[in-house]
Amino acid sequence: MQTSLLILALTTLTATAMGAESITPGAMMSWKIVCATAATPSEKYAATEFQRLFKEMGGKELPLVEAADASDGAIFIGPDAVLGSGQPTDRRALDEEALRIRVTPNAVCIDGGRPRGTLYGVYEFYEELCGVRFLTFDHTYFPPDAAQRTIPAGVLVVNPTFVFRWSYYGETSRYPDFAARLRVNTVSDDPKLGGRTGYRLVNHNVAYLVPPAKWGKEHPEYFALVNGQRKLEEGGGGPQLCMSNPELVGVVVEAVLEEIKKNPTARNINIAQMDNDSYCTCPNCAAIDALEESHAGATLAFVNAVAERVEKSHPEVFLSTFAYQYTRRPPKNIKPRPNVMIQLCSIECCDFHAIEDPSCPLNRAFCADLTGWKKIVNHVFIWHYNTNFKGYVLPFPNLRSIGPSVAYFANNNGKGVFMQAAGNGFSTELSDLRNYVMARCLWKPGRDSWKEAEEFCRLHYAESAGPILAYLKWYHDLVDSFGVHPTCFPTESSLCISPESARRIMGYFRDALALAKSGAVKTRVEKASLCAYRAAVSASSMKLTYRDGKCYPDLSEYSSDLLDQYAALCQRFGATMDDEMLPTARYLDLMRSLHAGLKAVALENEFWRLMVVPESNGKVVEMTYKPTRRNIARAPRGFNRFRHEEWIKQGDGPRSDNILAFDAQTEPQRVRLALTTKDGARLERSIALVGDAVRFETRLTAEAPRPFEVLVHPEYDTASMSADSDILGIYVKKPDWMQANGKETAALHEDQQRSMVKDAVGGGAYAYFNHQAKFGVEQRFDSSQFSALGLFWDPSRQQINLEMTSKVLSLTRGQSAGYAYEVRYLKNAPELTK
Ligand SMILES: [Zn+2]
Ligand SMILES: [Zn+2]
Repeated sequence: MQTSLLILALTTLTATAMGAESITPGAMMSWKIVCATAATPSEKYAATEFQRLFKEMGGKELPLVEAADASDGAIFIGPDAVLGSGQPTDRRALDEEALRIRVTPNAVCIDGGRPRGTLYGVYEFYEELCGVRFLTFDHTYFPPDAAQRTIPAGVLVVNPTFVFRWSYYGETSRYPDFAARLRVNTVSDDPKLGGRTGYRLVNHNVAYLVPPAKWGKEHPEYFALVNGQRKLEEGGGGPQLCMSNPELVGVVVEAVLEEIKKNPTARNINIAQMDNDSYCTCPNCAAIDALEESHAGATLAFVNAVAERVEKSHPEVFLSTFAYQYTRRPPKNIKPRPNVMIQLCSIECCDFHAIEDPSCPLNRAFCADLTGWKKIVNHVFIWHYNTNFKGYVLPFPNLRSIGPSVAYFANNNGKGVFMQAAGNGFSTELSDLRNYVMARCLWKPGRDSWKEAEEFCRLHYAESAGPILAYLKWYHDLVDSFGVHPTCFPTESSLCISPESARRIMGYFRDALALAKSGAVKTRVEKASLCAYRAAVSASSMKLTYRDGKCYPDLSEYSSDLLDQYAALCQRFGATMDDEMLPTARYLDLMRSLHAGLKAVALENEFWRLMVVPESNGKVVEMTYKPTRRNIARAPRGFNRFRHEEWIKQGDGPRSDNILAFDAQTEPQRVRLALTTKDGARLERSIALVGDAVRFETRLTAEAPRPFEVLVHPEYDTASMSADSDILGIYVKKPDWMQANGKETAALHEDQQRSMVKDAVGGGAYAYFNHQAKFGVEQRFDSSQFSALGLFWDPSRQQINLEMTSKVLSLTRGQSAGYAYEVRYLKNAPELTK
């Protein structure tokens, strides 16, 4: 089974017995296009597409007829036309997307499986045999010598490796006919385009199969037990289920059968965890997970039980589930039933390195998991992450890794790939190029994404391609030289975007624009330059300049109307989303307020120079320790991202997604910040220089009953991208100083490191120290005022957050709560007791 699929997937062009015969498109000018009356809508459309493309390529509109004799020269399109052609025919049935092209001296026969094979055959004919390239929705490239190209006689058969191919860009969903040209089979139901594959993306749905509103009251035990409570509400779409509850199998079977009734053509029905990590910890679930050494244990046992029952009436339907975050590691003993499909998600992976690159610490663990799943399941679908979810328009260095990663999926039982990118945006960073590269690699895994990108640039940017190619090479080499591992949630620093690199990127695009000769090429280069402008806007706000009580971005290297230029490009090319959640319009508003000058307070004594921005959550944007002139506040990222801030976790108040303005009163070496929340509570903060310490105090006074819970979110510069715990030490008092990170945790990803220090809150001190650069930061606090410490450390970002969560309290009217802590600069690492 496996072998035959692989053989079919090969592209074969074999010469016929006739030997060296061939044709050229130029010799087909007198031919007819034949498509039978009985052809499907998609096959008829395929015939008109053949006609249209031939006219654009060769200048001649060939007549479209229902029957013709091959002796006069004809192109037969669709199985019915091919069968009636009198040409040698191969009656073996083809899969729904497989295509067959037979070329003889006086006939071209293109047919394929239904519903999409024939249409794909037409595109394959132009692409593979005539050198045509479907570059963008409005640019198809025809080689100047297309009419004279030699097309050897023979048979070409293609059966795609992946049955599910989704290059997730606004460019494909907005232009489904273009998506069909790229053979993306997931965006349109239009019968003309052959509809979409019956396989559906595995997406979070267990809380929709078992709605808490319907079942929660009578059966709270159906839902996950988290921290001792049956959770009926949870972020990420809803609660997880208690997967070991035997009664629940019947409930989910009913829901699945209902789904099948509603979606009779669906090849798979999802039973997939919600988007949170609140899995069930009840004794039964925990026992299965412990035995299986993975939280996939309880989930998979449950999905198997449902699959066993659904199989009786619907053996052809797959039950699909995630291997995502807490279920990513395959279980030790349980094997998915043959009608269970797994969709493995790479959210923790590094995008710069290919998935199977052994030099990448983030990707090694994923490969081990995929290897494990491959051993126990034939149907592996992949959800791969290909963009910067925190900056859709910023440069992203994954053009070298896309091809090898897709090939790796194909070689490891991958049957479908969702390449998640800026799907809810448009005109994002080089989106035309990326969409082309991804779709071509999905259609034929094994293609080299870098070569595909080079080809796109040469054909699309024409005379301007040189500087754009030079930029791509230089930028990928730059990221390589830094040894960083950017994931799909990177910051500018993990993408190596700095004032210096942004200036250089802008230079490449300026050079490219200067070379453009036609209006069309100029427009394409301007569209591509969006990423250079976006990088410049970020970089110019990394280090703010201060004058007359306000802070401004540093535009010394750019034109003073940089933001207006960027806004105009966004408007012109319809770039609507700055990141996955943030509309461009909102981002531009935020940046406009900064470019107009934001009120800033500078504090200074002999040790410290601080800059506080009251109007932007009271964030601290500079903390320079004057004796060493080191700014420990995290700087290498755009202003719209957070810094040293404090966020209200319950009720109204400043948060990362709720930027509020404080009133500010400045005293010598102190700023007092205050604001009133929507429910009338008074939030007061004080930031003061006290000798060599920076003292932070926060107090909230309730006007109506409300909870009190605040997250202190200080981001510091580590001045190192090393994950080595000998270089970057993290320390807590417990009750004496101890190092919280060691060799065994050094390679762990940020999420897994958070729990390391959580409970060390009792010691009242928290610190990091860079042993190479010989500096660090200590936070001292009153442990009675805090409930937990939180660590966020991402070496790629050159960043560490020593986060602290306040005690959680319920305040009555007039009651207040608060806390204080101090930040000190360390010249020596905390002393450990032996
Ligand atoms: Zn349970
Ligand atoms: Zn990496």
